Amino acid sequence: MKRKLATIAVRGGLNSDEQYGCVVPPIHLSSTYNFADFNQPRAHDYSRRGNPTRDVAQAALAELEGGSRAVLTSSGMSAIHLVCTVLLKPGDLLVAPHDCYGGSYRLFDSLGRRGAYRVLFVDQDDEKALADAMAQKPKMVLVESPSNPLLRVVDIEKICHAAHQAGALAVVDNTFLSPILQQPITLGADIVVHSCTKYLNGHSDVVAGVVITKDETLGIEMAWWANNIGVTAAAFDSYLLLRGLRTLAPRIKQQQINADAVVAYLQQQPQVKKLYHPSLPDNQGHEIARKQQAGFGAMLSFELGGDEQTMRRFLSALNLFTLAESLGGVESLISHAATMTHAGMAAEAREAAGISDSLLRISVGIEDCDDLIADLEQAFRASA
Ligand code: PLP
Repeated sequence: MKRKLATIAVRGGLNSDEQYGCVVPPIHLSSTYNFADFNQPRAHDYSRRGNPTRDVAQAALAELEGGSRAVLTSSGMSAIHLVCTVLLKPGDLLVAPHDCYGGSYRLFDSLGRRGAYRVLFVDQDDEKALADAMAQKPKMVLVESPSNPLLRVVDIEKICHAAHQAGALAVVDNTFLSPILQQPITLGADIVVHSCTKYLNGHSDVVAGVVITKDETLGIEMAWWANNIGVTAAAFDSYLLLRGLRTLAPRIKQQQINADAVVAYLQQQPQVKKLYHPSLPDNQGHEIARKQQAGFGAMLSFELGGDEQTMRRFLSALNLFTLAESLGGVESLISHAATMTHAGMAAEAREAAGISDSLLRISVGIEDCDDLIADLEQAFRASA
């Protein structure tokens, strides 16, 4: 029987321990494993290559995304780098969103400059720009939807189809929604990547990433390269991630309820000059979001009116929105894109992507939303 997503998330790896019958799978911290005899390795020989704790977390993630294999890595960036390492040789073209996560932008830009591959940053919502990029026969097309930090939504099914027509593999960064709200493989993606640091773990105490492949052989190749370059995730992080994953569905549900309330409040707040959330009819890609997502998510951004001093007063008055990078945890966070998450992007590239200096991004947590709104209210008053 095909299990529902919340069930898969809760049940991942439970009762898999045959030695003691532990309900929760134990952590296997050993870096190495004895051989049964000369030239007779057991299921595992060395933890960089394979680890039982990582195995159960990987199996849960593969099942959640509807893929055949998952490889857990040391960070979201190492997951993205691993995919590029496997798919791209010098001269090959990578098509990436012009408004992708700043760290991804910096990785592609710096390695592109060193000749590891060629990269083209494209507004994937612009049909002509996308068609022109596909005419250059890329090997890999990366999609990030909703985008960071402007929450623009692009048509994943359409882009995956165009990528395949051009002979490329389609890779979707699903960090902002998690498999609970978006299933890229069912929309045509070949590979899904996540920063597990965010919603999947959900407690801001792990840095990890994952590569999930639709195809088994490609998954085996990813695992080989992950061991080869040494980017596999630690056992302890894998354990914490699996523990966090168990509450993924109710966390996302509450985060979305709170986000909707915060969006409604910000809509009538005169100091908010522009509000970005996929639920808003004027948000780029709102209609696509309705179709391809199971919810609008709990990330939102807004432009704050006033000058830098207003911004400083607003941020320092907040008590329940911690000024910090990252997202997807149970606690609410606020970040300033230009000086934080997107500082790795040149000012001109930020401007081209529409990321202004007055843009603030909120990751809505699971606190009581009356308290969240009261906190915003007093910070707006203090900054005016
Ligand atoms: N992809 C997206 C969309 C992100 O927001 C981030 C980090 O913020 C990453 C990838 C990189 O993940 P990590 O910080 O775990 O390396």
